[in-house]
Amino acid sequence: MSRLNWLEQELQSLHDQGLYNRIRTIQSPQGAWLRVDGKKVLNFCSNNYLGLANHPRLVEAARRAMEKYGVGPAAVRSIAGTMDLHVELERRLAAFKGVEAAITFQSGFNANLGTIPALVGKEDVIFSDELNHASIIDGCRLSGATIVRYAHNNVADLERAVQEWQGKYRRGLIVTDGVFSMDGDIAPLPEIYEIAQRYDLLLMVDDAHGEGVLGRGGRGIVDHFDLHGKVDIEVGTLSKAFGVVGGVVAGNARIIEWLRQRGRPFLFSSAMTVPDVAACLAALDLLEESSELVEKLWENTRYFKSEMKRLGFDIGQSQTPITPIMLGEAPLAQEFSRRLFEEGVFAMAIGYPTVPKGKARIRVMISAAHERQDLDRGLEAFARVGRSLGVIGA
Ligand SMILES: *Cc1c(COP(=O)(O)O)cnc(C)c1O
Repeated sequence: MSRLNWLEQELQSLHDQGLYNRIRTIQSPQGAWLRVDGKKVLNFCSNNYLGLANHPRLVEAARRAMEKYGVGPAAVRSIAGTMDLHVELERRLAAFKGVEAAITFQSGFNANLGTIPALVGKEDVIFSDELNHASIIDGCRLSGATIVRYAHNNVADLERAVQEWQGKYRRGLIVTDGVFSMDGDIAPLPEIYEIAQRYDLLLMVDDAHGEGVLGRGGRGIVDHFDLHGKVDIEVGTLSKAFGVVGGVVAGNARIIEWLRQRGRPFLFSSAMTVPDVAACLAALDLLEESSELVEKLWENTRYFKSEMKRLGFDIGQSQTPITPIMLGEAPLAQEFSRRLFEEGVFAMAIGYPTVPKGKARIRVMISAAHERQDLDRGLEAFARVGRSLGVIGA
């Protein structure tokens, strides 16, 4: 089996560098507490920002829809027709976002893979933030366009790159994460919009970590900055704050119409399932009825972050519920995560290649599902492990 030997070496090398990711098994529903590998632990990992992943209203909506429509869509929508349920979700998502139209994909990852190559090709240029999500990077590569990376959230560097390329392409696209998932910082979208305007470039933002989090009642980054009608393409996910699974692209009606004709994951992959769609509709109902969950998320975030700072942890530059605890080297982050787990706290270490080498961290995801006493339990565990590993003073 010599053709497979390289795999053993590569896997061993991951172990040696502290970069091997052992995926834990969850044996309970999502929520503030989980049963993981047989142990009850506080959940500091999931993207379940609003606690909707196991919300009774979503579960009930999924159950009722399955009784009416069954489980699967049984085909690609463009070939065998689309269920009214999917059309309804797209109409409701567009209204929630305050845009002309929306189209759903099977995931946020697929939304990026489908959208970018439909908009730009070989003769075009994409200006892409250097820390953009992997699905944006892959979408850019698939498009065949020239990819010009600019320094993270650096508008001056973006403008420099745009000027350098001016006149050398057919179409230009600026693409950025709205909220950066590893650091929790927010793209300076108003300034980026100014540049898109000045140089007549398409503007696309991936708001995966902004939906349900930023803006009025969780309407996302465009609402947060009051840029309605100014961002051409808003990509999002239904897998994080929405608590389900799926992707969405929202914006100008002509762009959405074009994606229905040319978005490859839309044309060549089956749609979201019936329970997914019905649960997302119920999530929209909840978000439109009240901003209570969004407010609780932010209250929890403010509390947890200020207490972590008080304990002496370096929690980076986050402006959102994403809370990185910066530890440096990957083995330390892995050891920290193991000790936390022993203390009954589930918070995973993140290292290269998800973040740059030397910037390993634990990433804590705060949720509206947490109660104050849950956060206090977590803080105590962080304090004990931090002291015993010398990360914070005694
Ligand atoms: C999580 C994430 C995605 C992928 O979303 P899925 O729906 O889980 O595929 C895409 N873009 C960004 C910025 C993300 O954080």
